[in-house]
Amino acid sequence: MTPADETREILDLAGIECAGKLVSYSPIDGKVIGRVTRGDPEQACARAAAAFEIWRNVPAPRRGELVRLLGERLREAKPVLAKLITLESGKIIQESLGEVQEMIDVCDFAVGLSRQLYGLTIASERPDHRMMEQWHPLGPVLVISAFNFPVAVWAWNAAIALVCGNPVIWKPSEKAPLCGEAVMTIVRRAMDRFGSAPEGLVQLVQGERDVGELLVDDPRIALVSATGSTAMGRDVGPRVAKRFGRVLLELGGNNAMIVCPSADLELAARAILFSAAGTAGQRCTTLRRLIVHESIADQLVARLRRLFAQVKVGDPRKSETLIGPLIDEASFKAMKKVLGGNIEQVEAVEGGFYVRPAIVEVGAQEGTVLKETFAPILYVLRYQELDEAIALNNSVPQGLSSSIFTLDLREAELFMSARGSDCGIANVNIGPSGAEIGGAFGGEKETGGGRESGSDAWRTYVRRQTNTVNYGTDLPLAQGIKFDL
Ligand code: NAD
Repeated sequence: MTPADETREILDLAGIECAGKLVSYSPIDGKVIGRVTRGDPEQACARAAAAFEIWRNVPAPRRGELVRLLGERLREAKPVLAKLITLESGKIIQESLGEVQEMIDVCDFAVGLSRQLYGLTIASERPDHRMMEQWHPLGPVLVISAFNFPVAVWAWNAAIALVCGNPVIWKPSEKAPLCGEAVMTIVRRAMDRFGSAPEGLVQLVQGERDVGELLVDDPRIALVSATGSTAMGRDVGPRVAKRFGRVLLELGGNNAMIVCPSADLELAARAILFSAAGTAGQRCTTLRRLIVHESIADQLVARLRRLFAQVKVGDPRKSETLIGPLIDEASFKAMKKVLGGNIEQVEAVEGGFYVRPAIVEVGAQEGTVLKETFAPILYVLRYQELDEAIALNNSVPQGLSSSIFTLDLREAELFMSARGSDCGIANVNIGPSGAEIGGAFGGEKETGGGRESGSDAWRTYVRRQTNTVNYGTDLPLAQGIKFDL
């Protein structure tokens, strides 16, 4: 089978009809994979608003049933969807399978959640009064996603939003539109089995930034959950705030790992390779800054240089490959701007941009070290005292993920304490990337402050209502106020 035949087969199996003006290119070889049609934001918002009128009245556990069916259909579609993710985003097949598994996991989580959307009962200061809070559906949720997690980010949001009673509109990355089409085919299968989901409950609106902007500005969208660059969030955040909408931002990271003298260097080296070089450095949680104690730095860096030189860079469809291509030429140029002549291009598949992950030792944290270059560049800094290392971890504009390798309990606890890492994620003896769906995911500062996926992240997708009920025969006022004729 030629690569072109293979592509056609994947598109057929994924149920994708290729038509329209928007083109999808594969980072593997730069060739066209297929086309999609630009969506209609106005129509999508109208349909979502109509669907909300119906869906908010459906009991939450019944809404969970739709998400359960979605999880089932995703299990069936996993191998094909994973192949399409690899074709369109360039990540290796193992990681693509993992991405679909993440969708399945969050569906399972949301099904359980559909019976646990708990509020509190609160002690009232007045006699014969009862206070409580309820969490009601919020309204249509817009999901804007980035190219590097072309389907999982939608699922993190959609599974939770749906059980919370909200319709979902998805504006996928213009670099991975076919993944969106494939997921919609799977959603339709789940909806058919479910039987009574309102039309317009789950929609896909293809397009570039301008389409995203039209959706972001629409007052019918109650929550904008936007994943992408900090530049995107800087635009989206104020736009939504201007119309008093709700926003959940998941933006760029500049993640560090501190390696202490007591660290298990064997584990650390493996974690560094996966988190710095995996997905060709194109994860929001990619390890970009390694902060190593000076006593072990030479030893660890030498070991990493050997690993980085050996790691197999190539066609992500091949099982032996660990690092696939960069997403496009712009990404290659951004990496070249940092590395200059030191960039090591790898001849893998013609038309794709394949690079060997790079290690750059720096004396100070300045210039490009403070920025997120979305490519596999690992900066190495040295430290003497742990306080100094934590200060380095924190003194960048982003605040997504961080980690420490140490066998010293005091160091680990300090790193996770109030005066430790300032990031949304702080790990011990694992790298900063590869989060599980059970925790709330997101980061501080220029990462945007949003949290999605597990824990109580669902509360962003609902509106809180406080209820006070008087079951007595008198009308006492709060704070003891007297207001009688
Ligand atoms: P990007 O910002 O170029 O695009 C992301 C999405 O936003 C796309 O769908 C795009 O069309 C849309 N968009 C861009 N500007 C917009 C605007 N003004 N209004 C409305 N929509 C707009 O990002 P990318 O290159 O696709 O992805 C890489 C970036 O995403 C990196 O910075 C990475 O760290 C970040 N990311 C963050 C997370 C997270 O959870 N924190 C997860 C994945 C990726």
